[in-house]
Order: sequence, then structure tokens, then C-alpha cells
Amino acid sequence: KKEAAQAEVNKDDLRSPICCILGHVDTGKTKLLDKIRQTNVQGGEAGGITQQIGATYFPVEVLKEKIAPIDPEEKQVFKTPGLLVIDTPGHESFTNLRTRGSSLCNIAVLVVDIMHGLEQQTLESIRLLRDKKTPFIVALNKIDRLYGWQATPNGGFRDSLAKQNKSTQNEFDTRLQATIVAFAEQGLNAVPYYNNKNFAKNVSLVPTSAHTGEGIPDMLQLLVQLTQERMAASLMYLSELECTVLEVKVIEGLGTTIDVILSNGVLREGDKIVLCGLNGPIVTNVRALLTPEPLKEMRVKGAYVHHKLVKAALGVKISAPGLEKAISGSRLLVCTDDDDEEELKDDVMSDLKDLQRWISTSGKGVCVQASTLGSLEALLEFLKQGKIPVSGIDIGPVFKSSVRRASTMLDKGHTEYACLLCFDVEIDKEAEKLAGEMGVHIFSKMTIYNLVDDYKAFYDNLMEARIKDAAPTAVWPCRLKTLAVFAKREPIILGCEILDGDLRIGTPLCVVKVHPETKKREVVSLGRVTSLEINHKPKDIVTRKEQGAGVAVRIECAVYEQSKTYGRHFEEKDEIYSMISRTSIDTLKEHFWEKVSTDQKKLIKALKPLFNIP
Ligand code: GDP
Repeated sequence: KKEAAQAEVNKDDLRSPICCILGHVDTGKTKLLDKIRQTNVQGGEAGGITQQIGATYFPVEVLKEKIAPIDPEEKQVFKTPGLLVIDTPGHESFTNLRTRGSSLCNIAVLVVDIMHGLEQQTLESIRLLRDKKTPFIVALNKIDRLYGWQATPNGGFRDSLAKQNKSTQNEFDTRLQATIVAFAEQGLNAVPYYNNKNFAKNVSLVPTSAHTGEGIPDMLQLLVQLTQERMAASLMYLSELECTVLEVKVIEGLGTTIDVILSNGVLREGDKIVLCGLNGPIVTNVRALLTPEPLKEMRVKGAYVHHKLVKAALGVKISAPGLEKAISGSRLLVCTDDDDEEELKDDVMSDLKDLQRWISTSGKGVCVQASTLGSLEALLEFLKQGKIPVSGIDIGPVFKSSVRRASTMLDKGHTEYACLLCFDVEIDKEAEKLAGEMGVHIFSKMTIYNLVDDYKAFYDNLMEARIKDAAPTAVWPCRLKTLAVFAKREPIILGCEILDGDLRIGTPLCVVKVHPETKKREVVSLGRVTSLEINHKPKDIVTRKEQGAGVAVRIECAVYEQSKTYGRHFEEKDEIYSMISRTSIDTLKEHFWEKVSTDQKKLIKALKPLFNIP
């Protein structure tokens, strides 16, 4: 049956590949999109380029015209009807164009500013592209900013480069090499596209200028070639419905609408659709399928063309009742008479439920909130990489309930997790106020990288402060022998040999007396170490190696303690120990354990029985 269906396929049944543009802010993503959309073709709707919802469609005729500067004889073969470029650059739309772990975006353009190289969001984009196994090319943009660049508007890159003087060519080479090295550091083999012999292995670099249009023919041709090569022919035929919600928008006169990318299949007016909602699955009927009015001189703002039927790949606005709680990034399914509606409902909701798997089983962790399913997933993946546990997730604006949920960490004594990490969401004023009152920290950033970094910085500061607070209760193990007595009573000053461990200022010291008859042990506290000297040089810590002929130790009691006297409470034969306790050991374990040596751990173990610590 399938074969028969395929035999019937004509060019109208092919679908175009979908392309996304990603990269660091200000690299020229928007400008590049604008430049690709410009055309010289007269009349009609800008030569057949159709402005859709959230995307621009380039039919083959337009691509041909744009590639012409480097393909004057029109040798390029086109196997697809065109190319659909998603209009919202950045990874918000990329992460949303997803279905169960893979991407609906067939190819991506990663824009890098040739003057700046790889920046933070470039790295973030690379991670996302890798995670979703999306093939991509790199537009090495802003070549017109190279010193002395002579522009050939809309020209092919190699012709343009050949026309530059030597020093400009040299600067290009230097910057190209630097970019290649930077990609190599990310484990990627980047090659200028014209030298790329293996597209499956190497990332192609296409130098471009969004200002002069140079390199854009090269970039488009490469996109066409790669999608044709990389996409199995079957993928390009219209088949099962694949549709994703990119945005949920309130439109005057239409109410809440959803902007979707139909990446495969057909949608009809009246179709019963099923999608993921904040409060459960949404089932509704398509009232209207809308695309913007064609570009005219006098375009009426907000006017739409209605469609009875739309075919992939395209961006379309859906008007339907009951879309208020729809979630961006949700898949959209069509429920036919043959389908089990309940099954479809479970299916769409599983996207949200799946994300629950990121929640830490320990019950400890930060709360996370993002604008869309896709961005939430991307953020959770980043947090996992950073080993930051998550205790709660949500989509949409932050209200008081989110703050309250995060505040439960305070009750559990985990200030470090009483945090809300918010990506691309609004924060309600009341919620913000409540957070301030309760002591919940809200982190809100437009990039995942910065968000995670901010949280890490907060966490580190908090931990450092805690370690400082904990330092007095941490007791490092030590065993001493008295060599000389410089002062017998408060403050006691002794010359000691460190037998085991090391000695620090602040360490409480004691001797352990055993009753001659009852054999009962009695711990006699001597006070804390208030100064340490070797050869009259003050020290904070003295290790056994450093001690030389011995260390001068001053021991002072707290005001509320009874002071001790050498010769009465303890003698030369008594070994002196640091006074450890269950609490002091726990403090060491919690804050300093990685700094405690194996020998010190052994000593703690050996000292425990003296203090009746199990
Ligand atoms: P986005 O944040 O990546 O979308 O970047 P934009 O497209 O908004 O561009 C950021 C700035 O860089 C703007 O001032 C652009 O005019 C400028 N820009 C973008 N592309 C180019 C280019 O190819 N050459 C030069 N000289 N400037 C560019």
C-alpha cells in the first residue's frame, strides 16, 4: 500500500526541509534572515517567497535566483520544493521544534561573528545541536568588517575573497584559522565549505556578510545540497502528521491562538486536534488555519488568509476554542475517527510527564521554570551536566505557588536549593515580593548558560560562607607529646612534638586520664590552641614534617572553663589529643572531607574509642 502511495507521489507531495538559525546574540542572525528574504525578482509576492507564521518559505525558483551568482549555468539540481526557514532565531524555537528527543529542524545555521569567534551562546547552541543530532553549517558572519574589505554585493564568497588585497586576505586567513582552532577545542573538525570532502564528518564554514549579502549564495547552495543529501528521500514525502506548537498568542478578534510548524503531513479546517496543556490535555477543533496576507504595498496589519487545508512544511496560525492553557513546544496530534482519543491525550501529555524524570529522587534540589517544553528540557539537560539537582519543574510565568514550592527547601534546611531558576518567563510582582520575604532566591536570565552560572556562583558563595562558619567546629585530628613546659598555668605554653596529624590554631586539646582502680576514662579539656610557633615564627598550621625540633603551643581556656595546670591536671607522660566529637567529625565530613588525608582519617578512627564515639 505504501509503495502504491509512493508511486503516486508527484512534486506537490514533497515537503521542504526546515532550517533554524542559532548563535550568540549580535552575531547577525536576524540580519542574515532579513538578507535572505530580500529578492530582486520583480512583481508577485517578492518572487514567490511567502511569509508564513513564524517562518519564511523559499520556493526553488527563489533559491535558484539567489544561488545564481555562483551557479550561473543553473547546474544545481533541486530535489525538494523549497526551504522553510524558521523566523525566530535563537535556540528558543530550535529547542521547541522537537519530537521525543530528536529535532524537527532538519538543518541549522550556526552564526559566528568572524571578529569574535566562539562565544558563550555559540557553545550552548553547539551542545543543543549535538544533543538533537541536527546537522548544521556555520555562517562565519561579518566578513565585511575585515580591514579593507571591498564589497561585491550579493556575490559568491570565493570571487569576493579573490578581489581583496593581500592584507585583507591575510586577516581573513588568520581569523579563519583561529575559528578552526576554537572549534577543534569543542571536538569539532571545522573546514571551509569549499575544502570539505566529508560533510558527514566535518562542519562546513561559510563566510558571509549580512550587510553586503556576500557568501549568502554559498550558504543557500550548501543548505540545499546538504538537506538533499542528508535527508532520506522518504522524509521529504508527505506522510504522518508532525506538528509542533511554537508559540501561544492572544490575537485581537481571535482570542488565544497557537502558531505551529507543520513539519510533515496535512492539516484541515475542522480537524479535531489534541495537544499538551498546563492543566491537562486539550482537545479542540480547528476553527481556522491562517497565514499572513501576501506582502503588498498596503498590507493591512493583522489580516490573514484562511486555508481549508495546509501541507507541510509550513508555519500556520491555528484559531480554535480552548487554547488558553496550551504549552509552547507541545506536539499537536490530529484525532481521526479511527483514533483512540484517550490514547492521544496520554501521548501528548507524556511530553510533560517525561520531564519529571529529571526530578531528583533525593527530594532535594532547585525549582526550575521555563517558557516552553523545549526550553525547559534544554535547561534541565544543562543542570544535569552541572550536577545541580532539581526538585520541581513548571512551565509559564512565576506565581506565588512556585515560590512556595521552592520555599519547602528552607524547611528542610537546604537554603542552597531554595531557589527558582527561571528561563525566559515573566515573574509576577507579588511572587517576587513573597520570595524576598521568604528567602527564596529567584534567578532569571535570557540565556541558559548565564542562568546556570549565576546559580553556581550563588551556591559556591553560600558554601564558602558555610565553611567559614563551620571552621571553628571542625576539629582536625592530632596527637602530641610534651617536650618542654614554658608556662604551667593559664595560658599554658608547651613545647610539643607532633606524633600524628597536624596542629592548627583553634584546635581544642585534651588529655585522657584512666582511673587507676575503676579503669574509667576521663577526658580532661585543656583549652584551645591560640598560638603556634616554630623558632619564634608564628604559624596557623604546623605539620609533622615542618615541626623540626618541636613546636611552641599556647593553650587557653574559654572564660567559662576551669583552667588547668601542668603537674596537677596533666603531666609529661600524658599524650595530648585534639578533642574530637561526633559533631566535629560530621563537620569535617560535610565540609572538608576531600582535604582530610588517609592518615588523618586513620587517626580519627583510632581516637574515636577514647571519646566513646561509636
Ligand atoms: P542577532 O542578535 O544575532 O539577531 O544579531 P542582529 O542581526 O540583530 O545583528 C546585530 C548587529 O550586528 C546589528 O547592528 C547588525 O547591523 C550587525 N550586523 C549583522 N550582520 C552583520 C554583517 O554581516 N556585517 C556587519 N558589519 N554588521 C552586521
